[in-house]
Amino acid sequence: MRTTVGIVGAGPAGLLLARLLHNAGIESVVLESRDRAYVEQRQRAGILEQGTVDVLREAGVGARMDREGLPHDGIELRFDRRRHRVDFPALTGGRQVMVYAQTEVCKDLIAAQLVDGGPLLFEAEALAVEGADTPAPRIRFRHEGREDVLDCDYVVGCDGFWGVARQAVPESVSRTYERTYPFGWLGILADVAPSHDELVYARSDRGFALLSMRSPSVTRAYLQVPEGTDADDWADEEIWDELDRRLEVDDPDWRLARGPVTSKSVTPMRSYVHEPMRHGRLFLAGDAAHIVPPTGAKGLNLAVGDVVTFARALIAYREKGDATALDAYSETCLRRVWQAERFSYAMTTMLHRAPDATAFDDRIQLARLDRVTTSGSAEADLAEAYTGFAL
Ligand SMILES: Cc1cc2nc3c(=O)[nH]c(=O)nc-3n(C[C@H](O)[C@H](O)[C@H](O)COP(=O)(O)OP(=O)(O)OC[C@H]3O[C@@H](n4cnc5c(N)ncnc54)[C@H](O)[C@@H]3O)c2cc1C
Repeated sequence: MRTTVGIVGAGPAGLLLARLLHNAGIESVVLESRDRAYVEQRQRAGILEQGTVDVLREAGVGARMDREGLPHDGIELRFDRRRHRVDFPALTGGRQVMVYAQTEVCKDLIAAQLVDGGPLLFEAEALAVEGADTPAPRIRFRHEGREDVLDCDYVVGCDGFWGVARQAVPESVSRTYERTYPFGWLGILADVAPSHDELVYARSDRGFALLSMRSPSVTRAYLQVPEGTDADDWADEEIWDELDRRLEVDDPDWRLARGPVTSKSVTPMRSYVHEPMRHGRLFLAGDAAHIVPPTGAKGLNLAVGDVVTFARALIAYREKGDATALDAYSETCLRRVWQAERFSYAMTTMLHRAPDATAFDDRIQLARLDRVTTSGSAEADLAEAYTGFAL
């Protein structure tokens, strides 16, 4: 098999890239190791930055998002029994975010690809990327019990943190930067209307809590839990009780609505960057190259930024013969990636309680929150980063 761009992985990065290339008349083949149902149901991100929303609309896959997604103009910060609203449009010159689940983004992209796009092979596992630093890279993969080879002009590794594409970058040129956190997020989905109309990020002496949503009738909520926690160790009522404690606020009118929990899982927290994001004709995009803790809601949005950067660069090369943007792919992406790493790290350390936190650390966290909620420039910095960096 042969194509122009071989894409490993059908998460948001791989699927969106296939769509952007299709719209520009560039051939691609997507290889995805899991089946379609798995990709469409894997619960993960839910917040789309303004730039991501704009890209999905321009790519022709924004219609359902615009009907069913929930535009949000702010978030609430809770600490010390106080609440403070961060008003995004007022602080950023009109920017918003959109609550629309990653599962739905993937469903929309898959549907579009299957109607008129290039091949999208499910249960096709890439085994290795070979010849990355030659003019003829290829992907060895297994599909329907047979091994096969996809010959490409370019390979884009969109196969997430555990994929194989990154392994094709020799150790001698790879640099990795990593931090793991001694806690994770216990996340639930519950069939109950969200108790607040915007996301609530809460810092408490018991740890972090996030009240989020998937739709007007589905609540998404998270609790900071110790590293290695098993989701089944927590009974549903214990989760609601703990959310109640961590979201406590001096407002007699606020109440946490409880409902049946339909899903429960634990996510580890990690910051990770692999440099460079390009080796020869292999380009890494999304979680294959970097991971952020979910506190800043940046992972999916960074994946979108990477593939937009690649698609624009390839189009410029093919239409104008100008390889400048392709050559600068890694530097361009890494600049945005490190801003997202900085922001996600800052949000994580401002809001989570480390197991060895001292009274001094607690006071510093409260001072940081006090600063963000009383200084216009500090608050604008948070709002700008949350709504997203320029694509
Ligand atoms: C609980 C949770 C909450 C999150 N919340 C947010 C949020 O609010 N906002 C946000 O922006 N981000 C969030 N994220 C992060 C976000 O989900 C990821 O950053 C995003 O999925 C990255 O997309 P991707 O396409 O790069 O990788 P992935 O979504 O990981 O997709 C990679 C794909 O490659 C496939 N694959 C792997 N190996 C192979 C192989 N060898 N051959 C073929 N296919 C392969 C995988 O099956 C997968 O489908 C969250 C993550 C989690 C876990």
